Amino acid sequence: MTASATKTEHGSDLEAFRAEVRTWLKDNFPPALEGIMPMMEGGADGSHAADLATWRDRLAERGWGAPHWPKAYGGAGLDHAHVRALAQEMGRVGAINPIPLLAGMGVTMVGPTILEYGTDDQKQRHLPGIASGKVRWCLGLSEPNAGSDLASLSTLAEDRGDHFVVNGQKIWTSGADISQWCGALVRTDKTVAKHKGISFLMLPMDQPGVRTRPIKLISGASPFCETFFDDARAEKDDLLGELNDGWNVIKRLLQHERASQTSAGSPGGKKKAGALQDVAKRYVGVDSAGRLDDPDLRSRLTRHLMDAAAHKLTAERIAAEAKGNPQVGAAASIMKNSATGITQARSELLLEIMGQQGFGWEGDAFDADELATVRDWLWGKAISIYGGSAEVQKNIISKNILGLPETTQKG
Ligand SMILES: Cc1cc2nc3c(=O)[nH]c(=O)nc-3n(C[C@H](O)[C@H](O)[C@H](O)COP(=O)(O)OP(=O)(O)OC[C@H]3O[C@@H](n4cnc5c(N)ncnc54)[C@H](O)[C@@H]3O)c2cc1C
Repeated sequence: MTASATKTEHGSDLEAFRAEVRTWLKDNFPPALEGIMPMMEGGADGSHAADLATWRDRLAERGWGAPHWPKAYGGAGLDHAHVRALAQEMGRVGAINPIPLLAGMGVTMVGPTILEYGTDDQKQRHLPGIASGKVRWCLGLSEPNAGSDLASLSTLAEDRGDHFVVNGQKIWTSGADISQWCGALVRTDKTVAKHKGISFLMLPMDQPGVRTRPIKLISGASPFCETFFDDARAEKDDLLGELNDGWNVIKRLLQHERASQTSAGSPGGKKKAGALQDVAKRYVGVDSAGRLDDPDLRSRLTRHLMDAAAHKLTAERIAAEAKGNPQVGAAASIMKNSATGITQARSELLLEIMGQQGFGWEGDAFDADELATVRDWLWGKAISIYGGSAEVQKNIISKNILGLPETTQKG
């Protein structure tokens, strides 16, 4: 490692670090991937697969797939200011870090929780695979009869000496059919209060006892599955945290999940036709003063843009107040609900602006942005459900931030 790299990685020279990133990107980022969001390996048609694999491996080699993680586990040990600078420099050239997407729930949720609760052995075995983008994780929490009231879950793990045998059904398991590992919440003691008999197990998906069945959404996508455990095996070494302390582990993991869902934008995160006000002018037209030619829409659009700006500034203020080391906590629920409202409002406005062009599903009469609009609008409905519904976030805010008395929501 060069002297300058050592210096920058310890946070003393942000500008030098930016210059280093720019040079590195020039040498290492495949230009064909500019602005491409690789939701699946190589993009929907697989045409970028080779470039994506190269880009993933080069990023992983630098530890920049999960740059805030310790170097020992595949990260780069960067502080928040450097992580932000790295993201900004990548954004400047249209480079998207594919590793958090390729690792499923690994970089944003399971990994940070392993860092906090895992043994040294668990960190060494699991984190480098996540940080390289080569091992994808799913999360088996929800069950047909346990969603918001997660503690009612009934998937059972029985102690068989050196391992657990797991039986039960999970549902809405994102990416279960393409994941190598699952972080599952299971019941390990049926005789105690429901929150107290739960554990968090990590188990490999590629085994005879695990079966997945994809569920199709109204948007046409099939991002999640029913997951069946029939005598599935989980090693004792893969119990995360203490036996029967899974409720605390999962509360922490869900805070990480919400913290990763606090930026507002297009639901699909894809590159769009342009700023909302420009799209509106194009579809609706302008008056003689060059303003959007619909006073009511103009006023609602302005309000939305102000809300979006306020959200962004609040996120920046939180980061600044945390002095470069943001802590994940209950406030993530406020930001998740705010991001949800703004993202869904944007989709509604876009649909209204495009009129019937925004409702196209297929065919030459619609351009790519129009076709994406209706799918994004439908997909956006999920944002107020996953990671804990909007109502559940309000319960958390009322109890854990405002200190109001408990309602029906436990935990
Ligand atoms: C796109 C997507 C991806 C997902 N991925 C995963 C995943 O990878 N792994 C996983 O385990 N789960 C996943 N989920 C499931 C998600 O966590 C649950 O859908 C969510 O927690 C709500 O649970 P539920 O669907 O059972 O709804 P319910 O809990 O039945 O809730 C139904 C309605 O009642 C409201 N409600 C429930 N309880 C209360 C209360 N106490 N106070 C006020 N209102 C209440 C809810 O807000 C909701 O509107 C995913 C969901 C979606 C949509």
